[in-house]
Amino acid sequence: MRIVLLGAPGSGKGTQSQLLVKTYGVPQISTGDLLREAVSKGTELGVRAKSAMDAGKLVDDVIVLGMIRERLAQSDAAKGFILDGFPRNIAQAEALESMLLGLSKPLEAVVLLNLDLGILFKRLTGRRTCQVCGQVFNIFTSPPDTAAHRAKCGHDPVLIQRPDDKEEVIGKRLEVYDAQTKPLIKYYTTAGLLRVVDADAPMATVFESIQRAVEPQIA
Ligand code: AMP
Repeated sequence: MRIVLLGAPGSGKGTQSQLLVKTYGVPQISTGDLLREAVSKGTELGVRAKSAMDAGKLVDDVIVLGMIRERLAQSDAAKGFILDGFPRNIAQAEALESMLLGLSKPLEAVVLLNLDLGILFKRLTGRRTCQVCGQVFNIFTSPPDTAAHRAKCGHDPVLIQRPDDKEEVIGKRLEVYDAQTKPLIKYYTTAGLLRVVDADAPMATVFESIQRAVEPQIA
């Protein structure tokens, strides 16, 4: 499986990627996660990326492409990958295309998780992550059940909000999506790779739609 999950922030790319990882056994490659890891470790790359991330802007293509090139070269990516949050603009899509061409492993499908702007806003403002285990919740739609969480993970949920999920940054991130990432819809339609999935449905239903969209394409 070599696919891209495309969609605005909050459309469910991370959640659906994790379900795909479990089912198909290929790694999720999330540039957002890789960047957050670099920021929390305080690496040089993290320091360079942080201000753009905090402002809801895209991190420089050179940084992101270097990171992706390195990640795709790791052995677990040889059997396939789910790209989550990458590419985010046309330049990144073109660079990805030539990288994969060089590996003789072209993309098989690009799945667009389609969702209304109002719903996106609510999903993003309500998103919280457990600081201990990384599980993601939404205080409006899927709040944690403390007893269940304790039984499953052995600790109480310790919820934190991503700095870029604060209301003042969300507007900017959605604006950046509209201006820079949305043009990829046309790009991948022209390439014959785009599959559109309605993301305003329960998690399992969205997952089934993704499977129906990609299974005819994947090796
Ligand atoms: P995400 O977790 O995918 O929403 O990404 C969080 C932030 O990381 C974004 O708002 C950007 O600042 C940065 N980022 C993630 N992926 C990319 C990318 N492909 N290109 C540039 N910046 C990115």
